[in-house]
Amino acid sequence: MSAPSDFRKDFEILKSGEYIYFDNAATSQRPRQVLEAVTNFYNTANANPLRGLYDWSMAATDAYESARKAVADFIGADSTEEIIFTRNTTESLNLVAYSYGLENVHEGDEIVITVMEHHSNMLPWQMVAKKNGAKLIYLEPDEEGVISREEYTSKITDKTKIVAIGHVSNVFGVTNPVKEIAEYAHSKGAVVVVDGAQSAPHMAVDVKELGCDFFALSGHKMLAPMGIGALYGKRELLDNMQPFLRGGEMIEYVTREDATYAELPHKFEAGTVNAGDAVGLEAAIKYIQNVGFETIEAQEVKLTTLLMDGLAKMPYIKVYGSKDPKKHCGIVTFTMDGVHPHDLASVLNDDRVCIRAGHHCAQPLMQFIGAGSTARASVYFYNTEDEVKQFLDRLSKVREVMGYGA
Ligand code: PLP
Repeated sequence: MSAPSDFRKDFEILKSGEYIYFDNAATSQRPRQVLEAVTNFYNTANANPLRGLYDWSMAATDAYESARKAVADFIGADSTEEIIFTRNTTESLNLVAYSYGLENVHEGDEIVITVMEHHSNMLPWQMVAKKNGAKLIYLEPDEEGVISREEYTSKITDKTKIVAIGHVSNVFGVTNPVKEIAEYAHSKGAVVVVDGAQSAPHMAVDVKELGCDFFALSGHKMLAPMGIGALYGKRELLDNMQPFLRGGEMIEYVTREDATYAELPHKFEAGTVNAGDAVGLEAAIKYIQNVGFETIEAQEVKLTTLLMDGLAKMPYIKVYGSKDPKKHCGIVTFTMDGVHPHDLASVLNDDRVCIRAGHHCAQPLMQFIGAGSTARASVYFYNTEDEVKQFLDRLSKVREVMGYGA
């Protein structure tokens, strides 16, 4: 098993060690192997995929479809027809809301989500509920971010048509009991949509084991370029859905009045596809598999433990979510007494430390925990213990800088 430090050399941006990058939940860094794979695609196979009958176009198509197979295998999908490339998790979730939700949710039905959802898994469902006269029901977590069985069994009912839930919260870092919720939701006849933006980079995902009907992920949070994401959908559901966007090679036959659509998955991929970044996503998946989820999880737990132990020694810091570092998926959200999170992030930036501050695209959760905004440090496997120590040292000086004395 390789040590996490063996991989750091592959990340050019981290090489100088000048910056401490603790905003991995927003986007990860990309290793040389991913960037080279993208460059190689454009240098050797650049043509419009899925269209041309000449070598380069066919090579581009092969590269694109190979990336689809890599995604299918990575998340345990039965077939490549169940994998649709999108720009990101947000687009994947909107696709489900527009193409499945608007057609299948009716007046008086209910959609169940959690108050912890990222806006990307909230606003599309608000839209469906408003347009179709359905009710949006919110599951609420306890202090540690846990959705209890009682909570979901009391709110998911025969009226529920869709349960949309984040696999891992981007604020608490807690992993939701998706498998149990999916089982219960299915017993009530609901379809289960999982936002996997924060889980796919950090843990082995098997969509069949999870029992979900849809699963969305973003490449840029898992070492791939920005602008490529994926949606898994069960074949029988995708088959019966209308396209989300129209035009390009997603057709079978077009007349002046009408059109029939291509087979899965191309029915959902309108316009010129992002083959270059799909190739980058395949390289990212290979890279993650080479590092191994065991190594990734072990390093995240080690760093999160060090981080939370250090924060616990600062009485003016409040950490949100579980007290157990193993339940944070590398994400630690906190506030500092008397210092606005934006000021905190700016002071740390002066020391070349990158963290996130704000509402984390989860404003209803901020309202629920009674914080207008929070600070969030999030680590990945290429971060080091030394970086955590430096971060804690710099953090301990922030209040001084803000005029609170030593
Ligand atoms: N869902 C969760 C839980 C996230 O953390 C994010 C991004 O931070 C998203 C969805 C949206 O991802 P993207 O901006 O890649 O669409």
